[in-house]
Amino acid sequence: MDQIECVVIGAGVVGLAVARALAQRGREVIVLEAAEAIGVGTSSRNSEVIHAGIYYPRGSLKAALCVRGREMLYDYCEAHGVPHSRCGKLLVATSRNQIPQLEGIMARGKENGVLDLLRIRGSEAQALEPALECVEAVFSP
Ligand SMILES: Cc1cc2nc3c(=O)[nH]c(=O)nc-3n(C[C@H](O)[C@H](O)[C@H](O)COP(=O)(O)OP(=O)(O)OC[C@H]3O[C@@H](n4cnc5c(N)ncnc54)[C@H](O)[C@@H]3O)c2cc1C
Repeated sequence: MDQIECVVIGAGVVGLAVARALAQRGREVIVLEAAEAIGVGTSSRNSEVIHAGIYYPRGSLKAALCVRGREMLYDYCEAHGVPHSRCGKLLVATSRNQIPQLEGIMARGKENGVLDLLRIRGSEAQALEPALECVEAVFSP
């Protein structure tokens, strides 16, 4: 093969997504990967969290793409039978003086379009996670 339209270097999640998008648009693509298999780098060694998009700066591409990408990823997983769990996340204040930080996180999330955050009492958080000790929490479903 002397000529090819597109070469993607690296078969991690980003390279594979780029190659897929190009192929779906009818481009001829080859993916070059240094390792023996695809997706054996950072993409399969991370924390495995589908982030809600709470923390990124308002108006940033990270915030916008995380919120949109999250829904696209859930749709993709549903459509292709990829096992996943929407277990949610608790952000906690373990003392009263951490509550303003919790409020700040909640405000930042709302600015980013994360509209399903719930402020809950410590006892409500404890009902979800009995081993947890906190005075207040934000639940991100
Ligand atoms: C500790 C940690 C935790 C994380 N947790 C999360 C999380 O919970 N949720 C989340 O969404 N994101 C998380 N991330 C971020 C996420 O894992 C990365 O953003 C993502 O995996 C990057 O994908 P990638 O395809 O760019 O890179 P990689 O997965 O690293 O893929 C790059 C590929 O390119 C290949 N390569 C490199 N150079 C060459 C070359 N010259 N020739 C051929 N092949 C080459 C490598 O072998 C590798 O396979 C985490 C990251 C880290 C480090």
